[in-house]
Amino acid sequence: MTTKLLIAGDWRESASGDTIPVIDPSDGAEYARIGRGGSADIDRAVKAARAALEGAWGRLPAVERGRLMAKLSQAIADRVEELARIEARDTGKPLKQARADALACARYFEFYAGAADKLHGETLPYMAGYTVLTLREPHGVTGHIIPWNYPMQMLGRSVGAALAAGNACVLKPAEDASMSSLRIGELATEAGFPPGAINVVPGYGEEAGAALSGHPGIDHVSFTGSPEVGTLVQQAAARNNVPVTMELGGKSPQLVFADADLDAALPFITGAIVQNAGQTCSAGSRLLVEATAYDRVAEKVAERFRSLRVGSWDMDLDCGPLINRQQKSRVDGYIEGARRDGVAKLAEGVLAPNTPPGGYYVAPSFFGPVAPGSKLEQEEVFGPVLAAVRFADEAEAVRVANGTPYGLVAGVWTRDGGRQLRVARALRCGQVFVNNYGAGGGVELPFGGVKRSGFGREKGFEALYGFSTLKTVAIRHG
Ligand code: NAD
Repeated sequence: MTTKLLIAGDWRESASGDTIPVIDPSDGAEYARIGRGGSADIDRAVKAARAALEGAWGRLPAVERGRLMAKLSQAIADRVEELARIEARDTGKPLKQARADALACARYFEFYAGAADKLHGETLPYMAGYTVLTLREPHGVTGHIIPWNYPMQMLGRSVGAALAAGNACVLKPAEDASMSSLRIGELATEAGFPPGAINVVPGYGEEAGAALSGHPGIDHVSFTGSPEVGTLVQQAAARNNVPVTMELGGKSPQLVFADADLDAALPFITGAIVQNAGQTCSAGSRLLVEATAYDRVAEKVAERFRSLRVGSWDMDLDCGPLINRQQKSRVDGYIEGARRDGVAKLAEGVLAPNTPPGGYYVAPSFFGPVAPGSKLEQEEVFGPVLAAVRFADEAEAVRVANGTPYGLVAGVWTRDGGRQLRVARALRCGQVFVNNYGAGGGVELPFGGVKRSGFGREKGFEALYGFSTLKTVAIRHG
């Protein structure tokens, strides 16, 4: 498998010749190296994308774009096991989760393959003597900066939609997890994508990422990552006055009312924070429970936490390691800080025997009750740490749920139909799940945040509007 840079359909060394180590988070050992792309490489990739737009890729009818994407989707689906192993080793996530990610990536390309020839403008009623129509056009060259937590899913969701809308893409995967993006780039080349339609330039954020977000040849930037870096990307893009999509962090609540079906809720409560070791933007990291049910719910959740097992990606347990040493010490810091602040730890999972030494493991930890406004209740930990909060009534539940700087996702558990709708409407976030959490991650469902969680929507057909622009044509014919 190649670990070079994919630019204009060719595999090249980085201009500097430098490389970045690839570490297996399960044991901390280096097992490969990838190219360290920099501004010269980004420049070449942007020019290659522009040439593709002005050449073979730009000339392809929408239906043909869709067919190429369908081929790529099939190529990914045919290699789920291979891609899952690449992703699991690179990120540390358990194999079963990596398999689900590969399937989701294939599904994104399948969905957007079918959508490519269904994105169109309209004719508008106007004055006599005029015909007015709108044309949906690609932005041009789109830049995609993605994080390390779900590389295949982020690639499918962002690059898939941009290609369907007719853009040519430059992807900068995260320095900690670029392997699957490189392999999918290779599969795209084999599927017959014209050179330059998809370029993959791995590299560090402050080098390749900064060069991409501020490159004058980029017409749109899609960024998924932390709010802090999101601000830098916006500032860089603003110098060129180009639009951006910001998919940032979250501190998403699950609201459990006393009348909820607890047996149904429990697997979602633990699953939403344990999946990917809590390194999920939409992790359900706050558990808001009605006071009358608090003890009962807390005990049941604690019981589940005690049964959670942590191990390497190939042990395929509930939780893998965190992505790197820095992330582990950050999460350990939150756990230690909660202990110092006297917050009760209600339960934790266990590190399985035979887990390799040197890995970045953190036992899933469940704290409660946690005070609204406290650090653990407000800040994105990005690890398997769940904070339970007690609330007295519906009004307080909504107030606490909305009381962080974030607004990405929320779950509401109640049998009361009126309350389901009232609370769903009152929550300030991008997605609300009633009596479920995540709805199976459906690629059809528009996704994105409000407040510090970002703006713009990816996933679903909605993403195609973000990855295209509208031109109005007014024809005066008398
Ligand atoms: P990060 O912001 O550190 O990195 C994300 C990407 O940005 C990486 O590719 C990185 O190389 C790049 N980058 C870093 N510095 C840059 C710079 N100066 N200019 C341009 N690019 C730069 O985030 P992370 O630690 O990789 O991911 C964790 C964060 O991502 C969390 O806050 C999480 O909630 C968020 N996230 C959000 C979503 C979503 O859809 N809303 C999805 C996944 C992750």
